[in-house]
Amino acid sequence: MSTLFVGVSPSLDNRLPFADVLESTFLCIARFHHASFLFPLFKWKASGFCRTLLDFPAEHLYNHSMLAFQLYQLQQVDSTRDDLSKRVAALEARLADHHAVESAEATARAASERLQRARHALRQAEAEAEAVRMKIRRSEEMLYSGSVRNPKELQDLQKEVGALKRLLSRREDAQLEAMVAAEEAEAAQRAAEGRLQAVRHERLQQETRWRGELDDLQQRLASLDGRRAALAAEVPPDALTTYERLRQSRGGLAIAAVEDHACTACGAPLTPDLVRAARSGDALVFCRTCKRILYVP
Ligand SMILES: [Zn+2]
Repeated sequence: MSTLFVGVSPSLDNRLPFADVLESTFLCIARFHHASFLFPLFKWKASGFCRTLLDFPAEHLYNHSMLAFQLYQLQQVDSTRDDLSKRVAALEARLADHHAVESAEATARAASERLQRARHALRQAEAEAEAVRMKIRRSEEMLYSGSVRNPKELQDLQKEVGALKRLLSRREDAQLEAMVAAEEAEAAQRAAEGRLQAVRHERLQQETRWRGELDDLQQRLASLDGRRAALAAEVPPDALTTYERLRQSRGGLAIAAVEDHACTACGAPLTPDLVRAARSGDALVFCRTCKRILYVP
């Protein structure tokens, strides 16, 4: 039983508020929860029985086409909430995914380590070449100092200088290769560092954009939550349960609008009787194929 401040149709009950003064067709506004309904009150000869406050079973008054419309509105709000929630989840996943920056950091770190190794190898090659040069200098000093006079010793010394010069040539080749490798490593490290800075900068811009969008989405969701609560409060609990059950089992879509005698959710054609029943609003009508509640706009 719901308490209604209403005028009721005489076809439903002969208790008519304001009946003493009303004799011709008029519309009366009934309020049930937060919803307003218009009821035609037909020519009615006042009986003298007048009440301004009636206890009347709500189901006698509840207009199901209005109910389908309310559920349709609820569905629109819920579908929008679903879309926004998906977008929120996608943005949160993006915010949590630092793969691009981490990958660029790893590349820069590897390039930096490679550069260090290349520089170390270069220093080593330079030192090895320098060591051979020193040996050559010492041997040549001995050779040209006149301190060695024995021809055999002189010949050996000349051979040693010749061998050292060949070794120096190889060491200098190695030094040159190490120098080229170090330059390449340096260029690669600079490129990797530049790439890392670019990726970090891009990430920062993206995060600012994503967080802004996220704030906006969360505000819209909060506003929709309020709207949903208000709409849901207008719907009888059993209809709401049916709606929620269908939402869960039908991929979030419980209500299907009727267009051109077809269900817009599954595309199934609907019989004229079914469409008429859905339009009349005597009861909730379901698509026979996808079982969703039909709403005729
Ligand atoms: Zn259907």
